[in-house]
Formats: sequence, structure tokens, C-alpha cells
Amino acid sequence: MKKMPEYWDPEIETMPVDDLRKLQEEKLKKLVHYVYENSPFYRKRFDEHGVRPEDIQTLEDVRKLPFTYKQDLRDTYPTGMFCVPNSKLARFHASSGTTGKPTVVGYTHKDIDNWAESLARALTSVGVGKEDILQVSYGYGLFTGGLGAHYGSEKVGATVLPTSSGNTERQLELMKDLGTTSIACTPSYFLYMIETARKEGINIRNDTKLRKGFFGAEPWSEELKRRIEEESGIKAYDIYGTSELSGPLFTECDEQCGIHIWADLFLVEILDPETGEPVPDGETGELVITTLAKEANPLIRYRIKDLTRKLSEPCKCGRTHPRITRISGRSDDMIIVRGINVFPGQVESVLMNIPEVGNHFMIIVDRIGPLDSMKVQIEMHESAFSDKMSDMMALKGKIASALKSVLNLAVEVELVEHGSLPRSEGKSKKVIDKRKI
Ligand SMILES: [Zn+2]
Repeated sequence: MKKMPEYWDPEIETMPVDDLRKLQEEKLKKLVHYVYENSPFYRKRFDEHGVRPEDIQTLEDVRKLPFTYKQDLRDTYPTGMFCVPNSKLARFHASSGTTGKPTVVGYTHKDIDNWAESLARALTSVGVGKEDILQVSYGYGLFTGGLGAHYGSEKVGATVLPTSSGNTERQLELMKDLGTTSIACTPSYFLYMIETARKEGINIRNDTKLRKGFFGAEPWSEELKRRIEEESGIKAYDIYGTSELSGPLFTECDEQCGIHIWADLFLVEILDPETGEPVPDGETGELVITTLAKEANPLIRYRIKDLTRKLSEPCKCGRTHPRITRISGRSDDMIIVRGINVFPGQVESVLMNIPEVGNHFMIIVDRIGPLDSMKVQIEMHESAFSDKMSDMMALKGKIASALKSVLNLAVEVELVEHGSLPRSEGKSKKVIDKRKI
């Protein structure tokens, strides 16, 4: 028996595409006036760019508008891009500044409502509701992951288990005892949970009620997703959002063919990162988003730097909102080794396809003399260790040639003992670039 599709807001989620475009157009027109009148930053940026709010009449006119960047949030730190006075703000979040100042994002009450609404639609689209116990193992605090997942889950009526990240043995105990059915965290943290569960003698598949996981906040590959599903027996879904847009906002629906981006709240463009021109639907480009409903700090054509593809054909779930595919990497994460572009995600895809390889690896880039070198330290699968030197050499050769065929680059492979690479409770670090140290 096939269960009927269920929607959180059927009217919006299945709105005919033409009506949805109309709605976006109306909202965009209002938005440009709103930011021009309320934010000195936007007024100045529009003026410099020679564009006035009246110039925006159709959805296509969005291309007349200037881009905004993370650097703008830094340059106007802390609240220079905001459109509302402090008295209207309900909350701040901030992202950790790995270089320099953090970026601060403000929310009105309505912004928080829309955030929860967005995630409520998403969770409903994968069948999470009142019967569920959702363990939020994203960090709570200035990072948006924890509170975002928390509000979204509460909105759909699920019971929230706000464990935050860390204290993994305790998390597993609560998962077992309280009957957690779904979890939200980074994919690397869930890998660590699987490993810890094994050590504690807990079989996630048989000893817990966990069936669904929402993983995001760092790019991860299709191959890693398969591994997570095989090793834990759960279904793994992509969850997407960035701190600048709000936090976690979107997931795949149960069809698992892309992440629905709610078009009444956000306008998506996929652009060539070099030229800033749109790429055809289905082709990889940089995700650029305009927030259509945010009050506190709306973003206009914000260059997220995540690389993805847009799918516009209708989804089998009946939702008419466009989808983006799994984030294949961030243009910022790209490392250039001997003139060749390498994404950590490519390395992950190759490694996760090799059964003898464990779940953890580290890329180390260095410069020896005039030449760049790239080494990958790879943990072996627990069951794959062999005393025979010849077996290990053969495995190293197999991995190196698999990497070479994808990256077009000779890579040194170092096999390390299971458990020797650092584990992460949040976003994991997969690259050490010694050239920058
Ligand atoms: Zn769908």
C-alpha cells in the first residue's frame, strides 16, 4: 500500500509553477524597495551599481542587482547590513570566524517563524511528525544547526531530544532508552557515533529505533551516504542551509532526488562562478540565493560558494518547488595542487567506494622545493588489516591508481591504523594545507 503524500502546507508546496513565479516576482519587487529604504548598506550598493528599486519589475530583472558576499557581512560587522532596529530583533546567531571577525546574522520573530516553517515542510516531506523522537546532535548556541533543527522539529510536533554535540556514549544511551527515531547532525559526527556504538556493544540497527538521519553542515558524498546507511541501517537524508540564510532549512523529500528549496521564501540562481552568468538547468554552478521573506537581514544575490545543480522538472512527490542536488563542494574548499583543481569530496567519493578503506581520511598538501605534493592518510577498515606486507602494498597501489584516475594527479597514499585520525563532533577538517602555514 502506498501512503498518500503528506504536506505541511499543501497550498504553497504544490502551487502551480506559474503562480509560484508570480508570487516570487511580487516578493522580489517588494524586497528591493524594503532593503533600499531600510539598509544604508544596500542603498549604497545599489547606487554604486546604478540600479534603482523601480528597475526591478520581473523575476529576470534580478540579474540587474549586485551580488553580496560573506565579505560584506564581515566588512559591515556586526550589524551594518541589517534592515531593522535592535528593538525588532529576536535573536542573533554568529558563525565562527576562522579568519578574522565572525559574521553575525539577526532574526526577527517572523524570521524565526519562517525558519521553523521551512524546516517543518521539509521534515513532513520525509514523514517526520508527532510520533517521532528527534535527537538534535548539532551544536546548540551561536551555531544555527542545533536551534534550527530544534524549532523545526517542535513545529511538526515531534519530541525533541536536545543532546547537542559531544558526550557520545551518553547520546547513545539516551538514543536507546528514549527510543530516538531520527537524528540530525553532521555526517562526520554520525560516523563517530557509529564507531562509538560499536565499541559500546550497541548495534544501531538492532538495538535502537533510529530509522532516519538528517546530515549536513558540511559537504558529503553519495558514497559516504551509502556507507552510513549500510553500517547503521538507517535512511540518510541531506539537510541544507547556511548560517547566513538562517540555518538548516531544506531537506530532500522521500523521493530523494534533490533538495527542495522553498521558492516562496528563497529565489535560487545557479551561476558560473567565474562569469556570474546563469548555467543551464542540470549543470553544475555556484548557488546564489536571494532571501524573499527575511526581515532582519535580507540577502540579495548572496554568493554562497556551494556548488550544485538545479533541477526544475516536477518532483514525483507533487511539490512544485525547485530542487538542488547534493552540494558537491564549496568553491572555497577547492585546493590547487600543481595547477590541478582538487575537491575533498572527489577524494571522499573514490575512497568510500573501496571496501578496505575505513571512514576517515586526511589530505595533506605541502610544497617540497618548487613542487606541490599531496598525500592522503587513510584509515583502513577494521577488518581489512593484514600482516602481509605484500597485501598492504597492493592495497596502497590500488587506492593510488583509483585516486589518480579521478583527480588526474599522482597522490601519495599512506595507510594508517584504524582510530588514529582525529574524530569530529561537529564539522570535520579534511585538509591540512602546509603551504599556508
Ligand atoms: Zn519532492
